[in-house]
Amino acid sequence: MHVTEDDLLKFALETCNDAEAQAISEHLAACDVCRERLARMRDDIATIAGVRPEVERIALPFHSQRPKVWRAVVRMAAVLLIGFVSGLAASRWVCRCPATVVPQYASVVARSMAESPQALTPAPAVDLASASH
Ligand SMILES: [Zn+2]
Repeated sequence: MHVTEDDLLKFALETCNDAEAQAISEHLAACDVCRERLARMRDDIATIAGVRPEVERIALPFHSQRPKVWRAVVRMAAVLLIGFVSGLAASRWVCRCPATVVPQYASVVARSMAESPQALTPAPAVDLASASH
């Protein structure tokens, strides 16, 4: 049983794993037919690798001939995006403080009461009905 074309190609391209390479090497040591096939395959690979296709480089017009209007639009969009992002960051930074001050007020009152309880007299009652006249 000879080595298949696929396995021989993998061996020639050195893409088979160690076990496959070992098995193929052992067969090649004993088989003249497969050694000849491998030699021809390697010649073909060298020929193909030596071919340099003659292809002209095509000049892509995208950068130089793009309309100037598009550049202005892209610049405007970039400016708006930068402004939006920086505004968003600034608003996040400004709004870091808590929305309520009740806990701080409560602690101030508690400290004041502890220092001088007599200073905190209740405010005089206001009769709203008579004060409006
Ligand atoms: Zn063979």
